[in-house]
Amino acid sequence: MIENPIKRRPTRKIRVGSVYVGGDAPISIQSMTNTETCDVEATVAQIQRCVDVGADIMRVSVPSMEAAEAFGEIRKRVQVPLVADIHFDYKIALRVADLGADCLRINPGNIGSEAKIREVVAAAKHNDISMRIGVNAGSLEKDIQKKYGEPTGQALLESAMRHIDILDRLNFHEFKVSVKASNVFLTMDAYRLLSQQIDNPLHLGVTEAGVYRTGSVKSAIALGGLLMEGIGDTMRISLAAEPEEEVKIGFDILKSLGLRSNGINFIACPSCSRQEFNVIKVMQTLEERLEDVRVPMDVSVIGCKVNGPGEAKEADIGVVGASPRSLVYRNGEKSHLIDTNQLVDEIEAMVRQRVSDIEDAKAKEIIRTSFSE
Ligand code: SF4
Repeated sequence: MIENPIKRRPTRKIRVGSVYVGGDAPISIQSMTNTETCDVEATVAQIQRCVDVGADIMRVSVPSMEAAEAFGEIRKRVQVPLVADIHFDYKIALRVADLGADCLRINPGNIGSEAKIREVVAAAKHNDISMRIGVNAGSLEKDIQKKYGEPTGQALLESAMRHIDILDRLNFHEFKVSVKASNVFLTMDAYRLLSQQIDNPLHLGVTEAGVYRTGSVKSAIALGGLLMEGIGDTMRISLAAEPEEEVKIGFDILKSLGLRSNGINFIACPSCSRQEFNVIKVMQTLEERLEDVRVPMDVSVIGCKVNGPGEAKEADIGVVGASPRSLVYRNGEKSHLIDTNQLVDEIEAMVRQRVSDIEDAKAKEIIRTSFSE
Protein backbone atom coordinates (compact mmCIF):
# COMPACT_ATOMS: atom_id res chain seq x y z
CA MET A 1 0.00 0.00 0.00
CA ILE A 2 1.43 3.43 -0.95
CA GLU A 3 1.67 5.76 2.03
CA ASN A 4 -0.34 8.95 1.67
CA PRO A 5 2.29 11.70 1.19
CA ILE A 6 -0.03 14.59 2.05
CA LYS A 7 1.01 16.50 5.17
CA ARG A 8 -1.64 18.95 6.25
CA ARG A 9 -0.52 22.47 7.08
CA PRO A 10 -0.89 23.07 10.81
CA THR A 11 -3.79 25.44 11.47
CA ARG A 12 -5.63 26.58 14.57
CA LYS A 13 -8.82 24.69 15.26
CA ILE A 14 -12.09 26.60 15.31
CA ARG A 15 -15.63 25.40 15.82
CA VAL A 16 -18.67 25.70 13.59
CA GLY A 17 -21.37 24.36 15.86
CA SER A 18 -20.58 20.70 16.47
CA VAL A 19 -18.00 20.55 13.67
CA TYR A 20 -14.37 21.47 14.22
CA VAL A 21 -12.52 23.08 11.34
CA GLY A 22 -8.73 23.18 11.15
CA GLY A 23 -6.06 21.51 13.22
CA ASP A 24 -6.43 17.75 13.11
CA ALA A 25 -10.17 17.89 12.33
CA PRO A 26 -11.23 16.07 9.16
CA ILE A 27 -11.57 18.33 6.14
CA SER A 28 -15.23 19.24 6.19
CA ILE A 29 -17.54 19.53 3.21
CA GLN A 30 -20.06 22.29 2.95
CA SER A 31 -22.64 23.50 0.52
CA MET A 32 -25.11 26.36 0.30
CA THR A 33 -28.86 26.34 -0.14
CA ASN A 34 -30.34 27.91 -3.27
CA THR A 35 -33.94 28.03 -2.07
CA GLU A 36 -35.56 31.25 -0.86
CA THR A 37 -34.53 31.34 2.79
CA CYS A 38 -38.01 32.61 3.70
CA ASP A 39 -39.40 29.38 2.26
CA VAL A 40 -38.54 27.44 5.41
CA GLU A 41 -40.03 24.14 4.23
CA ALA A 42 -38.09 24.08 0.97
CA THR A 43 -34.85 25.17 2.66
CA VAL A 44 -35.10 22.57 5.40
CA ALA A 45 -35.82 19.86 2.79
CA GLN A 46 -32.82 20.92 0.73
CA ILE A 47 -30.53 20.98 3.77
CA GLN A 48 -31.72 17.48 4.64
CA ARG A 49 -30.93 16.22 1.13
CA CYS A 50 -27.40 17.58 1.51
CA VAL A 51 -27.02 16.05 4.97
CA ASP A 52 -28.20 12.71 3.57
CA VAL A 53 -25.21 12.68 1.21
CA GLY A 54 -22.78 13.72 3.95
CA ALA A 55 -22.72 17.55 4.20
CA ASP A 56 -20.95 18.58 7.42
CA ILE A 57 -21.93 22.25 7.35
CA MET A 58 -24.59 24.17 5.42
CA ARG A 59 -24.63 27.84 4.50
CA VAL A 60 -27.83 29.79 4.17
CA SER A 61 -28.16 33.21 2.63
CA VAL A 62 -29.71 35.84 4.91
CA PRO A 63 -30.36 38.93 2.80
CA SER A 64 -33.05 40.57 4.98
CA MET A 65 -34.50 40.70 8.47
CA GLU A 66 -37.38 38.55 7.26
CA ALA A 67 -34.86 35.96 6.10
CA ALA A 68 -33.13 36.21 9.50
CA GLU A 69 -36.37 35.18 11.23
CA ALA A 70 -36.77 32.32 8.74
CA PHE A 71 -33.16 31.34 9.47
CA GLY A 72 -34.14 31.03 13.15
CA GLU A 73 -36.96 28.63 12.20
CA ILE A 74 -34.65 26.60 9.97
CA ARG A 75 -32.11 26.44 12.81
CA LYS A 76 -34.69 24.78 15.05
CA ARG A 77 -35.49 22.13 12.47
CA VAL A 78 -32.07 20.86 11.38
CA GLN A 79 -29.13 19.44 13.31
CA VAL A 80 -26.30 20.30 10.92
CA PRO A 81 -24.22 23.42 11.74
CA LEU A 82 -25.46 26.47 9.84
CA VAL A 83 -23.46 29.38 8.49
CA ALA A 84 -25.43 32.59 7.95
CA ASP A 85 -24.33 34.37 4.80
CA ILE A 86 -24.63 38.12 5.34
CA HIS A 87 -23.48 41.07 3.32
CA PHE A 88 -23.15 44.57 4.76
CA ASP A 89 -26.10 44.76 7.21
CA TYR A 90 -24.65 44.24 10.66
CA LYS A 91 -28.11 44.15 12.27
CA ILE A 92 -28.86 40.92 10.40
CA ALA A 93 -25.64 39.46 11.78
CA LEU A 94 -26.65 40.43 15.32
CA ARG A 95 -30.10 38.88 14.87
CA VAL A 96 -28.93 35.52 13.46
CA ALA A 97 -26.26 35.32 16.15
CA ASP A 98 -29.10 35.39 18.68
CA LEU A 99 -31.16 32.93 16.64
CA GLY A 100 -28.55 30.20 16.73
CA ALA A 101 -26.22 30.68 13.77
CA ASP A 102 -23.05 28.62 14.18
CA CYS A 103 -20.91 30.86 11.99
CA LEU A 104 -21.27 34.28 10.38
CA ARG A 105 -20.01 34.68 6.85
CA ILE A 106 -19.45 38.42 6.85
CA ASN A 107 -16.49 40.59 5.97
CA PRO A 108 -15.74 43.00 8.82
CA GLY A 109 -14.41 45.59 6.39
CA ASN A 110 -17.83 45.75 4.71
CA ILE A 111 -19.84 46.28 7.89
CA GLY A 112 -19.19 50.02 8.20
CA SER A 113 -18.14 51.90 11.32
CA GLU A 114 -15.80 50.51 13.96
CA ALA A 115 -18.68 50.57 16.46
CA LYS A 116 -20.78 48.27 14.25
CA ILE A 117 -17.89 45.87 13.75
CA ARG A 118 -17.34 45.77 17.50
CA GLU A 119 -21.00 44.92 18.03
CA VAL A 120 -20.87 42.00 15.60
CA VAL A 121 -17.66 40.65 17.11
CA ALA A 122 -19.13 41.02 20.61
CA ALA A 123 -22.22 39.06 19.48
CA ALA A 124 -20.01 36.33 18.02
CA LYS A 125 -18.00 36.11 21.24
CA HIS A 126 -21.12 36.19 23.42
CA ASN A 127 -22.79 33.38 21.46
CA ASP A 128 -19.54 31.43 21.03
CA ILE A 129 -19.77 31.35 17.26
CA SER A 130 -17.14 31.64 14.58
CA MET A 131 -16.89 33.77 11.48
CA ARG A 132 -15.73 33.36 7.90
CA ILE A 133 -14.02 36.08 5.97
CA GLY A 134 -14.80 35.49 2.31
CA VAL A 135 -12.87 37.36 -0.36
CA ASN A 136 -13.91 36.94 -3.99
CA ALA A 137 -11.94 38.04 -7.04
CA GLY A 138 -15.12 39.49 -8.51
CA SER A 139 -15.79 41.90 -5.66
CA LEU A 140 -12.42 43.28 -4.60
CA GLU A 141 -12.31 46.74 -3.05
CA LYS A 142 -12.04 49.53 -5.64
CA ASP A 143 -8.65 50.79 -4.40
CA ILE A 144 -7.20 47.27 -4.57
CA GLN A 145 -8.59 46.82 -8.08
CA LYS A 146 -6.95 50.10 -9.05
CA LYS A 147 -3.65 49.20 -7.43
CA TYR A 148 -3.32 45.80 -9.11
CA GLY A 149 -5.22 46.51 -12.33
CA GLU A 150 -6.78 43.05 -12.30
CA PRO A 151 -7.45 40.37 -9.69
CA THR A 152 -4.17 38.72 -8.70
CA GLY A 153 -3.21 36.43 -5.84
CA GLN A 154 -1.53 39.35 -4.12
CA ALA A 155 -4.67 41.47 -4.55
CA LEU A 156 -6.87 38.79 -2.97
CA LEU A 157 -4.35 38.41 -0.16
CA GLU A 158 -4.29 42.15 0.51
CA SER A 159 -8.07 42.27 0.66
CA ALA A 160 -8.22 39.28 3.02
CA MET A 161 -5.53 40.74 5.29
CA ARG A 162 -7.52 43.94 5.73
CA HIS A 163 -10.46 41.99 7.15
CA ILE A 164 -8.18 39.71 9.15
CA ASP A 165 -6.36 42.66 10.72
CA ILE A 166 -9.66 44.10 11.93
CA LEU A 167 -10.59 40.87 13.72
CA ASP A 168 -7.07 40.49 15.11
CA ARG A 169 -7.24 44.02 16.48
CA LEU A 170 -10.48 43.14 18.24
CA ASN A 171 -8.84 40.03 19.66
CA PHE A 172 -11.18 37.70 17.77
CA HIS A 173 -9.46 34.67 16.32
CA GLU A 174 -12.26 32.17 15.75
CA PHE A 175 -12.48 32.62 12.03
CA LYS A 176 -11.65 30.90 8.77
CA VAL A 177 -10.84 32.58 5.50
CA SER A 178 -11.52 32.01 1.83
CA VAL A 179 -9.95 33.74 -1.19
CA LYS A 180 -11.93 32.48 -4.14
CA ALA A 181 -11.64 33.11 -7.84
CA SER A 182 -13.15 31.40 -10.87
CA ASN A 183 -9.70 30.83 -12.38
CA VAL A 184 -7.73 27.77 -11.27
CA PHE A 185 -4.29 29.43 -11.16
CA LEU A 186 -5.52 32.58 -9.46
CA THR A 187 -7.34 30.55 -6.82
CA MET A 188 -4.28 28.43 -6.12
CA ASP A 189 -1.95 31.42 -6.01
CA ALA A 190 -4.17 33.30 -3.56
CA TYR A 191 -4.54 30.37 -1.17
CA ARG A 192 -0.82 29.61 -1.27
CA LEU A 193 0.01 33.21 -0.39
CA LEU A 194 -2.59 33.31 2.37
CA SER A 195 -1.41 30.03 3.87
CA GLN A 196 2.01 31.60 4.39
CA GLN A 197 0.55 34.55 6.30
CA ILE A 198 -1.96 33.14 8.78
CA ASP A 199 -2.64 29.99 10.74
CA ASN A 200 -6.42 30.29 10.65
CA PRO A 201 -8.20 27.47 8.87
CA LEU A 202 -8.76 27.97 5.16
CA HIS A 203 -12.08 27.42 3.43
CA LEU A 204 -11.31 26.31 -0.13
CA GLY A 205 -13.38 26.97 -3.19
CA VAL A 206 -13.29 27.92 -6.84
CA THR A 207 -16.10 30.41 -7.04
CA GLU A 208 -18.58 30.29 -9.89
CA ALA A 209 -16.75 27.21 -11.14
CA GLY A 210 -19.40 26.59 -13.79
CA VAL A 211 -21.80 23.85 -14.74
CA TYR A 212 -21.70 20.38 -13.28
CA ARG A 213 -19.08 18.61 -15.39
CA THR A 214 -16.62 21.39 -16.18
CA GLY A 215 -17.06 23.01 -12.75
CA SER A 216 -16.29 19.72 -11.05
CA VAL A 217 -13.13 19.25 -13.11
CA LYS A 218 -11.99 22.82 -12.46
CA SER A 219 -12.62 22.45 -8.73
CA ALA A 220 -10.88 19.08 -8.60
CA ILE A 221 -7.77 20.53 -10.23
CA ALA A 222 -7.54 23.65 -8.05
CA LEU A 223 -8.70 22.22 -4.75
CA GLY A 224 -7.02 18.88 -5.36
CA GLY A 225 -3.75 20.67 -6.05
CA LEU A 226 -4.01 22.74 -2.87
CA LEU A 227 -5.03 19.78 -0.75
CA MET A 228 -2.05 17.82 -2.05
CA GLU A 229 0.13 20.67 -0.77
CA GLY A 230 -1.55 20.34 2.62
CA ILE A 231 -3.60 23.51 2.20
CA GLY A 232 -7.29 23.51 3.11
CA ASP A 233 -9.43 22.68 6.13
CA THR A 234 -12.96 22.88 4.76
CA MET A 235 -14.32 23.27 1.25
CA ARG A 236 -17.27 24.00 -0.94
CA ILE A 237 -17.56 23.03 -4.58
CA SER A 238 -19.43 25.89 -6.26
CA LEU A 239 -21.43 24.44 -9.13
CA ALA A 240 -24.37 25.58 -11.18
CA ALA A 241 -26.07 22.40 -9.94
CA GLU A 242 -28.09 21.21 -6.97
CA PRO A 243 -26.18 21.61 -3.68
CA GLU A 244 -26.22 17.89 -2.93
CA GLU A 245 -24.19 17.38 -6.12
CA GLU A 246 -21.60 19.80 -4.71
CA VAL A 247 -21.35 17.70 -1.58
CA LYS A 248 -20.86 14.50 -3.55
CA ILE A 249 -18.11 16.03 -5.71
CA GLY A 250 -16.42 17.39 -2.59
CA PHE A 251 -16.28 13.95 -1.07
CA ASP A 252 -15.10 12.45 -4.35
CA ILE A 253 -12.12 14.83 -4.30
CA LEU A 254 -11.26 14.00 -0.69
CA LYS A 255 -11.74 10.28 -1.35
CA SER A 256 -9.45 10.41 -4.38
CA LEU A 257 -6.72 11.93 -2.20
CA GLY A 258 -7.28 9.51 0.65
CA LEU A 259 -8.11 12.43 2.95
CA ARG A 260 -11.57 11.33 3.92
CA SER A 261 -13.87 8.43 3.32
CA ASN A 262 -17.57 8.68 2.89
CA GLY A 263 -19.05 5.51 1.51
CA ILE A 264 -17.80 3.39 -1.31
CA ASN A 265 -14.69 3.98 -3.34
CA PHE A 266 -15.50 2.17 -6.59
CA ILE A 267 -12.78 0.84 -8.83
CA ALA A 268 -14.22 -0.06 -12.23
CA CYS A 269 -13.17 -0.54 -15.85
CA PRO A 270 -13.49 2.15 -18.47
CA SER A 271 -15.34 1.31 -21.70
CA CYS A 272 -13.53 -1.66 -23.21
CA SER A 273 -14.49 -4.37 -25.69
CA ARG A 274 -13.01 -7.18 -23.58
CA GLN A 275 -15.43 -6.79 -20.71
CA GLU A 276 -17.61 -9.82 -20.00
CA PHE A 277 -20.61 -7.75 -18.87
CA ASN A 278 -21.91 -4.22 -19.31
CA VAL A 279 -19.66 -2.48 -16.76
CA ILE A 280 -21.10 0.99 -17.35
CA LYS A 281 -24.69 -0.13 -16.76
CA VAL A 282 -23.79 -2.20 -13.71
CA MET A 283 -21.79 0.66 -12.17
CA GLN A 284 -24.47 3.27 -12.80
CA THR A 285 -27.09 1.09 -11.10
CA LEU A 286 -24.79 0.19 -8.23
CA GLU A 287 -23.82 3.81 -7.60
CA GLU A 288 -27.50 4.80 -7.42
CA ARG A 289 -28.51 1.90 -5.21
CA LEU A 290 -25.63 2.30 -2.77
CA GLU A 291 -25.64 6.09 -2.44
CA ASP A 292 -26.88 5.83 1.15
CA VAL A 293 -23.85 3.80 2.32
CA ARG A 294 -21.53 5.88 4.54
CA VAL A 295 -19.18 3.11 5.71
CA PRO A 296 -15.89 3.48 3.85
CA MET A 297 -14.92 0.53 1.68
CA ASP A 298 -13.18 -0.22 -1.61
CA VAL A 299 -15.24 -2.17 -4.14
CA SER A 300 -13.66 -3.17 -7.43
CA VAL A 301 -15.85 -4.29 -10.31
CA ILE A 302 -13.64 -5.31 -13.20
CA GLY A 303 -14.79 -6.55 -16.59
CA CYS A 304 -12.34 -9.38 -17.20
CA LYS A 305 -9.41 -11.29 -15.80
CA VAL A 306 -6.73 -9.01 -17.34
CA ASN A 307 -6.75 -6.60 -14.39
CA GLY A 308 -9.54 -8.14 -12.34
CA PRO A 309 -7.58 -10.27 -9.85
CA GLY A 310 -4.96 -7.57 -9.24
CA GLU A 311 -7.59 -4.95 -8.39
CA ALA A 312 -9.76 -7.41 -6.43
CA LYS A 313 -6.86 -8.34 -4.14
CA GLU A 314 -6.49 -4.69 -3.07
CA ALA A 315 -10.22 -4.13 -2.45
CA ASP A 316 -12.56 -5.04 0.41
CA ILE A 317 -14.92 -6.60 -2.13
CA GLY A 318 -13.71 -7.41 -5.63
CA VAL A 319 -15.43 -8.95 -8.64
CA VAL A 320 -13.59 -10.36 -11.65
CA GLY A 321 -16.00 -10.52 -14.57
CA ALA A 322 -16.39 -13.77 -16.49
CA SER A 323 -19.20 -15.57 -18.24
CA PRO A 324 -21.44 -17.17 -17.09
CA ARG A 325 -20.08 -16.76 -13.55
CA SER A 326 -17.82 -14.10 -12.05
CA LEU A 327 -15.29 -14.59 -9.29
CA VAL A 328 -15.70 -12.74 -6.00
CA TYR A 329 -12.82 -11.74 -3.70
CA ARG A 330 -13.38 -10.67 -0.11
CA ASN A 331 -10.62 -8.96 1.84
CA GLY A 332 -8.18 -9.79 -0.93
CA GLU A 333 -8.92 -13.55 -0.96
CA LYS A 334 -10.85 -15.62 -3.50
CA SER A 335 -14.31 -16.25 -2.04
CA HIS A 336 -16.97 -17.66 -4.38
CA LEU A 337 -18.61 -17.51 -7.81
CA ILE A 338 -21.73 -15.52 -8.65
CA ASP A 339 -24.09 -15.44 -11.62
CA THR A 340 -22.85 -12.66 -13.90
CA ASN A 341 -26.43 -11.80 -14.86
CA GLN A 342 -27.13 -11.03 -11.18
CA LEU A 343 -24.05 -8.89 -10.51
CA VAL A 344 -25.86 -5.79 -9.24
CA ASP A 345 -28.02 -7.69 -6.74
CA GLU A 346 -25.11 -9.83 -5.59
CA ILE A 347 -22.71 -6.92 -5.10
CA GLU A 348 -25.35 -4.83 -3.33
CA ALA A 349 -26.06 -7.72 -0.96
CA MET A 350 -22.34 -8.17 -0.18
CA VAL A 351 -21.86 -4.45 0.48
CA ARG A 352 -24.88 -4.28 2.79
CA GLN A 353 -23.71 -7.40 4.62
CA ARG A 354 -20.30 -5.80 5.14
CA VAL A 355 -21.92 -2.60 6.44
CA SER A 356 -24.01 -4.62 8.86
CA ASP A 357 -20.97 -6.65 10.04
CA ILE A 358 -18.96 -3.47 10.66
CA GLU A 359 -21.81 -1.84 12.57
CA ASP A 360 -22.34 -4.99 14.68
CA ALA A 361 -18.63 -5.08 15.50
CA LYS A 362 -18.72 -1.42 16.53
CA ALA A 363 -21.78 -1.99 18.74
CA LYS A 364 -20.08 -4.99 20.40
CA GLU A 365 -16.97 -2.92 21.03
CA ILE A 366 -19.03 -0.17 22.66
CA ILE A 367 -20.74 -2.72 24.92
CA ARG A 368 -17.40 -4.35 25.76
CA THR A 369 -15.70 -1.06 26.71
CA SER A 370 -18.76 0.15 28.67
CA PHE A 371 -18.80 -2.98 30.81
CA SER A 372 -15.07 -3.08 31.37
CA GLU A 373 -15.08 0.44 32.88
S1 SF4 B 1 -9.64 -5.32 -17.06
FE1 SF4 B 1 -10.38 -6.27 -18.95
S2 SF4 B 1 -12.34 -5.33 -19.31
FE2 SF4 B 1 -11.31 -4.04 -17.83
S3 SF4 B 1 -10.32 -2.48 -19.06
FE3 SF4 B 1 -8.82 -4.10 -18.73
S4 SF4 B 1 -9.03 -5.45 -20.52
FE4 SF4 B 1 -10.85 -4.15 -20.44
